[in-house]
Amino acid sequence: MAKQILRINMTKLEATYEPVPEKWARWAGRGLTSSIVADEVDPTCHPLGPNNKLAIAPGWVSGSPAAPSSGRTSFGGKSPLTGGIKEANSGGLSSQKIAKLGLAAIILEGMPKDGKWYSIFIDKDGVQFEDAADLMGKGMYEIDTLMWEKYPNKPAVIGIGPAGEMKLSNAGISVNDPEGEPGRYAGRGGLGAVMGARGVKVMVVDDKGGPGVEVANMDLFKTGRKKLTAAIGAHDLTKRDGGLWTFGTNVLMNIINEAGGLPTRNFSAGQFEGAAKISGEAVVENIEARGGVGTKHHACHPGCIMQCSSIYPHEDGTAFVSVIEYETSWALGANCGIDDIEYIAQATWECNDIGLDTIEAGNTIAIAMDGGYLEFGDTEGALKTFDEVRSGTPLGRVFGQGVEATAKAFGVYRVPTVKGQSMPAYEPRAIKGIGVTYATTAMGADHTSGYTIAPEIAGVGGKVDPLTHTDKAGLSLTFQSATAFIDSTGYCLFIAFPILDIPEGWAGMAESVAGVTGLDITGDDVLAIGKEVLKIERLFNEAAGFTTADDRLPEFMRDEALPPHNVKWTMADEDLDQVYAWVHED
Ligand code: SF4
Repeated sequence: MAKQILRINMTKLEATYEPVPEKWARWAGRGLTSSIVADEVDPTCHPLGPNNKLAIAPGWVSGSPAAPSSGRTSFGGKSPLTGGIKEANSGGLSSQKIAKLGLAAIILEGMPKDGKWYSIFIDKDGVQFEDAADLMGKGMYEIDTLMWEKYPNKPAVIGIGPAGEMKLSNAGISVNDPEGEPGRYAGRGGLGAVMGARGVKVMVVDDKGGPGVEVANMDLFKTGRKKLTAAIGAHDLTKRDGGLWTFGTNVLMNIINEAGGLPTRNFSAGQFEGAAKISGEAVVENIEARGGVGTKHHACHPGCIMQCSSIYPHEDGTAFVSVIEYETSWALGANCGIDDIEYIAQATWECNDIGLDTIEAGNTIAIAMDGGYLEFGDTEGALKTFDEVRSGTPLGRVFGQGVEATAKAFGVYRVPTVKGQSMPAYEPRAIKGIGVTYATTAMGADHTSGYTIAPEIAGVGGKVDPLTHTDKAGLSLTFQSATAFIDSTGYCLFIAFPILDIPEGWAGMAESVAGVTGLDITGDDVLAIGKEVLKIERLFNEAAGFTTADDRLPEFMRDEALPPHNVKWTMADEDLDQVYAWVHED
């Protein structure tokens, strides 16, 4: 059965199934959500208005038999945080279930005329709308529990917390994990507010009895899958007992701190004296000591063999939170001058429940600290900011708008954002290539858009000096292109580590995509296809009013030398402008 587009119109409260149009037929995941947004959303529209849409798409291989770590979902729309195009990528149960229902994408559009809120149930028989009045104000832990009590087949639950209901620019979209808990987020860019603006509190997807995913060439798919699985199993970072497997993404805390690139106290230093206390090693020590349901190997969706996730337990062994990522531990910890892992676990829980992106939330608290509202290191005060957001107080709504709004409210000049979105856990003055990605990607400051940390710090895909600008424009473009492809596959971006070092893995990724889709794709095509996605996104942003003047790091990073290397951001604007010069040349 050919895949279909499910279009849900909230103005008409109507769902229609459409054949995938020719122009979108070769796309999936990020390539598809960005194509839908580019084709159907006016780039100048208000992100919270009736003309924005939320596109949700599984990747090419999502839902296919035993493709490793392939359950990622792309969420796309015009971002309330950046004003540009956004793709936010999540693990959890949604990708495989949407794909197994035979859907290439779900498009959520319109706004209810009656101003009501709705829950939406999707299964093989169609779509049902229900009044969601009894769900309003509830956090995602309760919503996920209620949905699994109501629907028996352990469906995917895609929802927004109070932040999304308030249409705050830092509202993310939650996807439940195999345990039925929130914690997997399409976090960045405020797409939770876009979902909230459609009047949708929660979407439940049950794939039972669905047609499943057709594989066009099973032999080719199996060949590719085997190569990719072997590469994942052989690489030092992703193999059993490798760094990611053992400590999760938070294995990076001590490594980045050692490199002098760990943003500390609102990006005022590159090393944090308390890094070890909030590192992956510290998290694992507590997990092992506490036992119970705690586990250091957890898959965010069925079939993930890298299992970088974990479940952090309370002292009595009962479940506390999943997952304390590196970015989360850094944003809520080092960047706020906090070295208390129990606070970080609680703050992560609050973000998961309220529906906030942890990176933007941690950076926002750091701004409030820099602005004198709180002291750096004040865990009690930091937790109260979550109460403010949850309650929707005027101050909480400022915090919920993210870093730039909070910086204006408190008169802070040192604002670590690009295109309105705050920077993740890598200091661009100390790791120059990631600064190029932050500056130039259409997504706003985003490490996942072009993770040059791989060669600059981890020695993956080669080894380059993090402190030099030389050749970083080309390096960033290569990583941005590869990432746009991987984000379209449904594979977790962490497959990049093995496939960059093991050519068979790279080829296997492409062959598995070709096997499922029947498209004529080889490893040689990956970067060119990725660039097509980048071009779609770049042109949307240009039509929305962005220029190369928006591809810049903040002024304070040119003025202030960052210890311990005492380096400034000194890359010439002309060099930055080379990264996307090809868009109007090709
Ligand atoms: S490696 Fe981690 S983030 Fe990626 S799919 Fe697996 S559990 Fe999820």
